[in-house]
Parts: sequence; structure tokens; C-alpha cells
Amino acid sequence: MSALRAPFRHCPACARGSVCVDTRVFLCEHCAFRYYHNVAAAVAAFIVHDGALLLTRRAHAPAAGTLDLPGGFVDPAESLEAALARELAEELALTPLPATPRYLFSVPNVYEYAGVTYATADAFFLIECLTRPPLAALDDVSETLWRPLAEIDLAEIGLDSAREALRRFRGS
Ligand SMILES: [Zn+2]
Repeated sequence: MSALRAPFRHCPACARGSVCVDTRVFLCEHCAFRYYHNVAAAVAAFIVHDGALLLTRRAHAPAAGTLDLPGGFVDPAESLEAALARELAEELALTPLPATPRYLFSVPNVYEYAGVTYATADAFFLIECLTRPPLAALDDVSETLWRPLAEIDLAEIGLDSAREALRRFRGS
């Protein structure tokens, strides 16, 4: 994992400085404040039909304008499966899901947002459709595209974990 930077200059508990970062622990040298910046869970889907994969175009940073898989971060008290169903409803209006998602594998990732580095564990699921479902481009998605799996250029995928996941998925 890349070096973790404290997203604050002073201790959030005692307001004195400075906060040491050791891998994922933010430790104040003055008081007992200790914060674990734990790995965040995220989910994404390979939605496929007849050899084609559904891709989304990212509307916002990071990697705005690049291609991605639909998905997002898991909310507190939410299962991976519920997070996937919620994200696909929010981003694509894909509800109910056309098939039961099948867990494939996970990829560790680093996500930079607004000056904060998040280490994530991204879980990938397969949804095999009998027909192409009607979709909308909502939330942080500007466009949806169906591409034959073999014709997708990995350089168009903006986020490292999605690119690595697509490489693994195509190789399987
Ligand atoms: Zn402190």
C-alpha cells in the first residue's frame, strides 16, 4: 500500500499536533487519541449478456471521463449483496436485479479523494443477463455502454482495481 497521509494537521481530540501515521493508525503524541483508518469495503459488478460487458463512464473525480464497472462503497450495517443492489439501482435504475449476483473475487485498491487516501477491498460479482436490461445513467455515471469483452481496451479503464479485475475476469 502507498504511504498513508494524515488528512489533518492536528489531533482531532486535543487539537495539538502532530498526529503520527503508522500504516493505518493515526496516533496523537500528546493525548491517548488513536484512530484506525481501516480498509473500506466496496462492490462492483460484471453485468454481461451474450459476450458483452456493461461499462459505465465516470461522471466525477477520481478518474472522471474514464470507463468503469458499476458499483460503489458499502454503507455501515449493509451487506456486500445489499450494497451491490443499492448501487445498481442508484447508478443504473437496475431494479430488481435481472439475475442473482455471483461472487467472483476481490482486489485491494487505493482510492484518493479530496486529499484523503482510502485503502479499499473491492469485491466483484457476476450478473449474467438473458436479455439486455433497460438502464439509465444516474448519480456518478454519465453514460452506459455495452462492449464485447474481447474488444475492451484496458487503458480506457480509469481505476486500478477495475482494470485489474477486468484483466482477471477476461483471463478466467
Ligand atoms: Zn491528541
